[in-house]
Amino acid sequence: MSFYTSLCSSLIFPLHEVLKKHSTVRVRRDMERSQWWSPQQIRQAQLKTLRLFLSDVQAHVPYYRQLFAELGLDVAQIELSELSRLPLLTKAEIRQHLPEMSADDAEGLARFNTGGSSGEPLIFYIGRRRVSHDVAAKWRATRWWGVDIGDPEAVIWGSPIELGAQDKIRLLRDKLLRTHLIPAFEMSAEKVDGFIRQLQQIRPKMLFGYPSALAHIAGRAEQTGVRLDDLGVKVAFVTSERLYDHQREKIESVFGCPVANGYGGRDAGFIAHQCPHGGMHITAEDIIVEIVDKDGKPLPNGELGEIVVTHLATRDFPFIRYRTGDMGILSEKMCGCGRGLPLLEELQGRTTDFVVALDGTVLHGLALIYVLRDLEGVEAFKITQESLEKTTVQIVKSASYRDEAEQKIVAEFKKRLGQAVTVNIEYTDYIPKERSGKFRYVISHVKP
Ligand SMILES: [Zn+2]
Repeated sequence: MSFYTSLCSSLIFPLHEVLKKHSTVRVRRDMERSQWWSPQQIRQAQLKTLRLFLSDVQAHVPYYRQLFAELGLDVAQIELSELSRLPLLTKAEIRQHLPEMSADDAEGLARFNTGGSSGEPLIFYIGRRRVSHDVAAKWRATRWWGVDIGDPEAVIWGSPIELGAQDKIRLLRDKLLRTHLIPAFEMSAEKVDGFIRQLQQIRPKMLFGYPSALAHIAGRAEQTGVRLDDLGVKVAFVTSERLYDHQREKIESVFGCPVANGYGGRDAGFIAHQCPHGGMHITAEDIIVEIVDKDGKPLPNGELGEIVVTHLATRDFPFIRYRTGDMGILSEKMCGCGRGLPLLEELQGRTTDFVVALDGTVLHGLALIYVLRDLEGVEAFKITQESLEKTTVQIVKSASYRDEAEQKIVAEFKKRLGQAVTVNIEYTDYIPKERSGKFRYVISHVKP
């Protein structure tokens, strides 16, 4: 670790956090101890925190005070298995009860909105306590990879909204902590060449961004014969989208570093992060993850279902059994690193990544993605399932694209979706991203 990095990690960033009245440093230190506890010890600590959290919520949050009373629930004595007696929290529920969802003594509430990509916007609030915990969890996961706050970092971000919200203090902080923002909303070849030159100047120790954006930049560097594996990048952190194997391979080979996947969101919190042994560790000190079926019933470990989270540091604006809309599996395996933090497996991205065949079969979007990925000359694509009967494929083609490919796509899609389905193919020069800046390969307007 360089002198400047240790200065940032041990002095500048902690000072910044103290000024913002965050307890991040203490929380991170505690988490670096508890990550080595046994799974049983971690569950015991979770239960203790859950009871304190729900009692606090009962005393201060009108919506939950009433709900607990209606359910006749003694939250101070609740067991982990009884959590499922509480209803699931949806975005619609939060919208409807927004005024009664904040604690009467909430501290430092900041307003956020999210949900642009799911088409379901949500306004919610985050208190000071929660910020400390989410930042601490991210910081801990960063340090798993032998890098730290203060190491030069390139953040390749696609959202113009977030960049617009930047103020001068944030810019100063980024400068001190050596975070360089690369606004990668537009991904034309010219722009991407510019990003590559920027990366060569910054020589970041870590990269952070959407897997699609990093893989795209890596692909362009490879195509144009620019080497990026000699910059000294130690790790590429990716988040916000499903990470596909082909993206991981591309990023790893071009930047010459491992890819670390992270899962979470502003709304749901810092849910899980990959360690160098490959395990996707849940931030179990703060977040209880349940996997539920389509009726909201909890599923046993090992079964695929929707990820539901209870964030124990959200007393100012509680997220209790919050539906993420993402699919995953809770694992019983232990990670080779020896951390007792439970593992999340088979993260299957957004539920809208699924498509529905004419006969009602629900397919993962990958079933369609593979058809296009195997074709020569397809530079970029986007699949939109408009209705059960109609699916549109947008394709950016290169010179090696052959006309027979069109029949192949239609035939393969019909095989999966049903023979009576209409498959439209449109050719375009550029496929724009979602407003949120994310790129989605498959969008379905059909509800399973
Ligand atoms: Zn691990």
